[in-house]
Amino acid sequence: MLTSDFIQAAAHAAGFDACGVAPLAKLPEDVLRSFCEWLQHGHHAGMRYMERHLQKRADPRLLLKGGARTAVVALVSYKPLRRQPPHLPQVSCYAYGQDYHEALKQKLRNLLAALQAEHPALQGRPFVDTAPLQERYLAVEAGLGWLGKNGMLTGKELGSYTFIGTLLLSDEVKGNAQPQKNRCGSCTRCMDACPTKAILDNGRVNSRRCLSYRTIERYANPLQDGEESEESMVKDEKTGVPSYIFGCDICQEVCPWNRRAKVVAHAEMQMLPQLLTLTAEDWLAMSDDDFEKIFGQSPIRRATLQGMKENVRATIRLP
Ligand code: SF4
Ligand code: SF4
Repeated sequence: MLTSDFIQAAAHAAGFDACGVAPLAKLPEDVLRSFCEWLQHGHHAGMRYMERHLQKRADPRLLLKGGARTAVVALVSYKPLRRQPPHLPQVSCYAYGQDYHEALKQKLRNLLAALQAEHPALQGRPFVDTAPLQERYLAVEAGLGWLGKNGMLTGKELGSYTFIGTLLLSDEVKGNAQPQKNRCGSCTRCMDACPTKAILDNGRVNSRRCLSYRTIERYANPLQDGEESEESMVKDEKTGVPSYIFGCDICQEVCPWNRRAKVVAHAEMQMLPQLLTLTAEDWLAMSDDDFEKIFGQSPIRRATLQGMKENVRATIRLP
């Protein structure tokens, strides 16, 4: 029988920084109810794909043919070694390097292959952001941290700057982890610092207000006609907050668990050198060819060049 010790060792060998294992069951009713309320209030903004496959979301065992019994949740840290100069238009640090989806999925495939080498009948399926799966809930169940008030998976060692990959397995595993206690306590720094007051209760975020939706997802998943976002972009001169043109790190940056989190310098997460120098004017003058050349392998391409220019115009007042 597979053991969680064996899986964790194989996950570290595959390049993950942390790994936990949880048995799969239906989502608890309160977790599902909280998600459905969030949808009913329209807090998912234009991301209508979140409304689909609710049955699978409610029971992740259905995501593997023949039934999944175990979730292996594995993390890769992206806490950066250095930051962009603060006077430049800011990009969320998860997007400093290459697109993480494929890199993480490949690590999960390698992990599955290592497990199958010992257990040839084992079936598995990797997921990175793409399935109707409550990944952060499963990460908490797998003992990797707790759900912070800003909705991020937060852990003692790695903080919240982590990508989450999930491998669903057909077999049961011996030695599952114990969930950690929530260590937010009375802290409300993330809620206080959010410039658009997007953080609700219960680790939920109103995407219509959140800059991550406003600067990225709205280009891929726009609101429908007649639907309005609830807040305009942040003007840095007025509020003194960094002017983000792709995503937003503010509620993570203030989290004490990120201050003390260790940095793991993964090569593919290192900052593209252009992000050290690109000014607002450079962004506005960028050609399609240059955008493709610089950001062809970057998460930034999700917002499109046109979207990035719109973000720059919305955040920076040019002379
Ligand atoms: S990412 Fe930015 S806008 Fe969104 S909840 Fe956090 S601080 Fe608020
Ligand atoms: S800033 Fe405070 S409340 Fe927010 S996630 Fe971090 S510890 Fe929790």
